[in-house]
Amino acid sequence: MNKKDYYEILGVSKTASADEIKSAFRKLAKKYHPDVSKEPNASEKFKEAQEAYSILSDDAKRKQYDQFGHQAFQGNQGGYNYQDFDFNDIFGDIFGEMFGGGFGRNTKRARKGEDILYRMSISFEEAAFGTKKKISIDVLEDCSDCHGLGGHDVKTCSNCQGRGTIRTVQQTMFGTFSNETTCHVCSGTGKTYENVCKTCRGNKKIRTDKEYDINVPEGIFDGQQLVMRGKGEPGTNGGPNGDLYLEFMVKPHPIYERENNDIYLSFPITYVEAVLGAKKDVPTLYGKIQLTIPPFSNSNDKHRIKGKGITDMRTGKKGDMYIILDVLAPTKLSKEQKKLFEQLKETKLDTNEKFNKISKFL
Ligand SMILES: [Zn+2]
Ligand SMILES: [Zn+2]
Repeated sequence: MNKKDYYEILGVSKTASADEIKSAFRKLAKKYHPDVSKEPNASEKFKEAQEAYSILSDDAKRKQYDQFGHQAFQGNQGGYNYQDFDFNDIFGDIFGEMFGGGFGRNTKRARKGEDILYRMSISFEEAAFGTKKKISIDVLEDCSDCHGLGGHDVKTCSNCQGRGTIRTVQQTMFGTFSNETTCHVCSGTGKTYENVCKTCRGNKKIRTDKEYDINVPEGIFDGQQLVMRGKGEPGTNGGPNGDLYLEFMVKPHPIYERENNDIYLSFPITYVEAVLGAKKDVPTLYGKIQLTIPPFSNSNDKHRIKGKGITDMRTGKKGDMYIILDVLAPTKLSKEQKKLFEQLKETKLDTNEKFNKISKFL
């Protein structure tokens, strides 16, 4: 296996002093620590640096490395694993600076809970006018029986004597490796319980159905999200809860279309109505209105009805409604109707200037 040179990884010379090596590692650890780094491959780089530092910071191991290279640490009894190296001391002070203390043995960092996305389908009218909805969401909550502790009657963990960590020392031909791991019995808390909580079976958290009343505001758009802060999954180690994101999916309406806060309606009229004009009942979200269609109307003629659109969520201002005429040919004619149309055909009907424009190209 072709491994990178430890000195190269830390960016120091082969003759670097212990202080230079330590400060080079501190710099890299701050840059690549997976909890804070946004660098690509941060965790790989971080591991590399950890491994390099664990060797070069130890005089005996550094000598072995200088003499035998990577081979010094491979295939030997027990195998070398840099994760056995105790980084707590150096991390304690590096991350003390970064996080204001608290990193090191026995401490666990607080983490925000997961966010939950809940998609909700609503009708066009519900989006336009707002509505109330009840939703039920399955969330992990601290067990109320044991208050999220997992058990009753606290006692000191007998496995780690309350330290939260277990130290093992391994002797190998290259020196002594000390290894400190989190106690698996108490998960590092140093405490266990006389009686495991029966409600959560020691899991500290239980899944519960939570009901929420949702006020869907009038004017909400398809795909728009509302955030309910703190209604997501609970945080760990005292971290804040995640958030609940409600995403609204507005079903299409059979006749209306929405553009911003305006409503568009394609409205069919007959040839005769288009030519002679008409008064027509037109549906709106607020009940029917009467639209006066002037004589000589055409398809795509647009009639604006002020204030019959959707209320803007922020400003409270109402959008408008646009009625777009759609002049439709009949699909069948009675004998009499056909006769009337035949008579009309003999008269001059091509008075629209568009007819002239086309005829010039014939
Ligand atoms: Zn323990
Ligand atoms: Zn419980």
